[in-house]
Amino acid sequence: MRGLLVFAALFAAVLGKETFEGHQVLRVIPKDEIELSLIKDLEDMIDFELDFWRGVTDVSIPVDIRVPFHSLQFIKIYLETQNIDYSIMIKDLQMMLDEEQQEMESGRRVIQPRNTDSFDYSKYHTLSEIYSFQDMLVAENPNLVSKIVIGQSYEGRPLNVLKFSTGGTNRPAIWIDTGIHSREWVTQASGTWFAKKIVTDYGTDPALTAILNNMDILLEIVTNPDGFYYTHNSNRMWRKTRKPNPGSSCVGVDPNRNWDAGFGGPGASSSPCSETYRGPSAHSESEVKSIVDFVKSHGNIKAFISIHSYSQMLMYPYAFLFCCSQNDHVLAKKAITDLASLYGTKYTYGSIISTIYQASGGTIDWTYNQGIKYSYTFELRDTGFYGFVLPANQIIPTAKETWLALMAIMDHTYNNPY
Ligand SMILES: [Zn+2]
Repeated sequence: MRGLLVFAALFAAVLGKETFEGHQVLRVIPKDEIELSLIKDLEDMIDFELDFWRGVTDVSIPVDIRVPFHSLQFIKIYLETQNIDYSIMIKDLQMMLDEEQQEMESGRRVIQPRNTDSFDYSKYHTLSEIYSFQDMLVAENPNLVSKIVIGQSYEGRPLNVLKFSTGGTNRPAIWIDTGIHSREWVTQASGTWFAKKIVTDYGTDPALTAILNNMDILLEIVTNPDGFYYTHNSNRMWRKTRKPNPGSSCVGVDPNRNWDAGFGGPGASSSPCSETYRGPSAHSESEVKSIVDFVKSHGNIKAFISIHSYSQMLMYPYAFLFCCSQNDHVLAKKAITDLASLYGTKYTYGSIISTIYQASGGTIDWTYNQGIKYSYTFELRDTGFYGFVLPANQIIPTAKETWLALMAIMDHTYNNPY
């Protein structure tokens, strides 16, 4: 009977979850404009169900494509007949996901953490584990941390923001969000580590203490909870929100193309099946609209930092046009230099449009247009060995080095008020 139950549970788990057996991630580096446009053509071949982990940008910039098993032969022949070189970045995606899952399970067999000291920051956690982490942190630090629910996701989950504050009313604030793209797991894991770091360092680290004695820090760890839940229970590679699109069988909107900044322009798709679908209208996604409403009603946010993975980049506006960066690059350079000082991890930096690609409807273009001068976005580790499936043993190193860059930005914001 017991064996039967185990079998039934296994069966349900297998049935409910999308597998990626035989999927490979190919890395293609276009040598010239001709190759660039041939690779770009792949974006429109929807029958192959290609998933661009790193989109097409420019000559000699890598493009990483997850290719399902059923398309693999065609895509390889396509590239070979055009004489386009490619390498296999991930040979068997499902094998990596199995390892990731096994490691999560092994972490869970240890007793449930009763407080944030025994929480295992070196493991990936589910949505409910992160929610209970947030509640424990608030309960343990009632004079420093509170939880604000800024709205609800499409499926009705709370959109929690941790507010770190030592008092005052409506102090100038620094916003940090992680996980707006749900499959970028190292970001939510880093966000969890940041939260603990803030309560640990307050009162001992002079720079952070000075910041928190004058400003608030707002941290949204799971910015896209429906998507995050879905990555754990149905499809590990889910990026978008989970709102259905009327008239289409494809679900979800890219929440980093949904903001009212160049909305609908180049670098976002109008097709609901695309990973970069902008949505029916600006701020159509409650996960985005809730932040928009919060930022507007707060009115005193001085820095806004939105964290993604992967590619190791630190960027500032704009994404939708070539324009007007003031002294952003000086601070960005300092931040990535500080970051590299820990383990030598190399980042590139620049405006989004010049560093990655033109994208419209992005988060920090909107916040910058709202007058938040220190608007930045990160792409954390790695540069394309594991991609979105970064092993859990890199969580803490990633969080630690990123924290140095965050401190550089927060410290600058504090010392250069506007
Ligand atoms: Zn992202």
